[in-house]
Amino acid sequence: MEYRETLAAVAYLVSAVLFVISIKRLSAVRTARQGNFLAALGMFIAVVVTLFNQGIVRYEMIIFGILIGTLAGAWMSIKVQMTGMPQMVAVLNGFGGLASLLVAAAEYEAGHSSDFFTLLTIFLSVLVGGVTFTGSMIAFGKLQGLVTEKSVMFPGQHYFNLFLLVVSCVIGAMISVEYDALNNFWYNSFGSPAPSKELLIISISVISLVLGILLVIPIGGADMPVVISLLNSYSGIAAAMTGFVLLNTVLIVTGALVGASGIILTQIMCKSMNRSLLNVLLGGFGNAPTVASSTAGGKQIIIKEVGVEECALLFDSAASVIVVPGYGMAVAQAQHVVRELSEQLEKRGATVKFAIHPVAGRMPGHMNVLLAEANVPYEKLYEMDNINDEFANTDVCLVIGANDVTNPAARHDQGSPIYGMPILNCDKARTVVVVKRSMKPGYAGIDNELYGFDNCLMYFGDAKDAIGKLVAEIKTLAH
Ligand code: NDP
Repeated sequence: MEYRETLAAVAYLVSAVLFVISIKRLSAVRTARQGNFLAALGMFIAVVVTLFNQGIVRYEMIIFGILIGTLAGAWMSIKVQMTGMPQMVAVLNGFGGLASLLVAAAEYEAGHSSDFFTLLTIFLSVLVGGVTFTGSMIAFGKLQGLVTEKSVMFPGQHYFNLFLLVVSCVIGAMISVEYDALNNFWYNSFGSPAPSKELLIISISVISLVLGILLVIPIGGADMPVVISLLNSYSGIAAAMTGFVLLNTVLIVTGALVGASGIILTQIMCKSMNRSLLNVLLGGFGNAPTVASSTAGGKQIIIKEVGVEECALLFDSAASVIVVPGYGMAVAQAQHVVRELSEQLEKRGATVKFAIHPVAGRMPGHMNVLLAEANVPYEKLYEMDNINDEFANTDVCLVIGANDVTNPAARHDQGSPIYGMPILNCDKARTVVVVKRSMKPGYAGIDNELYGFDNCLMYFGDAKDAIGKLVAEIKTLAH
């Protein structure tokens, strides 16, 4: 028996090490695929060891669960569009939270634990797990348009949340002492038996679920990605707590990794969207953008439109090109024709680089994933800080379905919702060509003053279609 447990501990250690290495690998595009594989291997080892080691009584239930989970996962991976990823991540985080809540509640009911530390972690698992579950479901609803994207607030909401938190702490204290001791104390103090274990665990579950809703409804749709990243971190914390409850090392390690990486990602996203975390959490900001007018900063935008022939001539004579992809490229699935264009330009002697803004698209790494899928070499992708100085020495900047991340208003217009957000210096290039379908705004709902700049040309059309035509036109030009 002892030998078996040592073996399990070693296997858990191996999978924990694999998780750590995988995170390191995931931090660079080149090694990300390998990182993903190592994480999956680590998870496989952990699952197999747990099934064999923990004296599982009913394998039927586990097989049933695996079947349902696999079917649901396969269905989602086929059905869910790339643009629906943030919602999917929200749902998956939520289920992680719910699992922690259920496992901890079951452990409490089963009465396996009587020491203060384990009972405290049971309480924290339920609390954080419940908040994560309903919070994630509201975030999903907001992104999917099922719940209003606007901030929902009622008078005294923050005080009510505080009240619920205080009540949770009181119940938490009751859960954290051994039940017989609580019962004695209660009897001596109030002359009656303490509330039942069921009542305690159900009340803390209900409060945590309500808290999750109340904490997320005041946050506007525009801030949902930050919230999802934060909830991801919460789901990790809840899992780590559950790891303490079950005395499962690998769960503690993975939970801590998810918790820590989630909070780091949250910080990065807050910085990229120019929001402070406190500002996001207190809510009432980041409302769904209102439809923009046709002016930027009160000024009418006068644009210059170009057709495919003019565009082709411009690119044919360019020696340096920076491509700035954005959400529109994802919507149009234009990454493959974009790669074709870059190859075509390189054949003609131009250097082509891709400038990636940290919040371009609708999820972190969105552009990297799409361009990698289209086999654009990694070394051609440059993070914003590494390429922003190069725009000034570039002949043509090609903006494909990116909008907010190129808007110079972020630098100077204090009234703009994106004021302070770092942007790509597209306007500094000699010529900027913007591919989009209309003059409609992007995510932030504001006009882009770049479109009125002297060096900016608008090439209207669906990104895939427009770039496809451009490639065909360039090919007709003799070089
Ligand atoms: P934007 O949302 O600012 O703009 C996208 C542009 O793409 C639109 O103006 C739209 O114009 C155009 N577009 C849409 N469909 C097509 C199409 N088929 N062909 C060509 N163009 C198209 O995108 P950005 O990537 O510049 O900025 C991302 C925004 O999203 C930022 O505000 C960021 O804060 C926010 N955000 C980012 C997240 C992340 O993690 N990356 C998460 C959530 C939000 P038109 O309709 O005229 O074609």
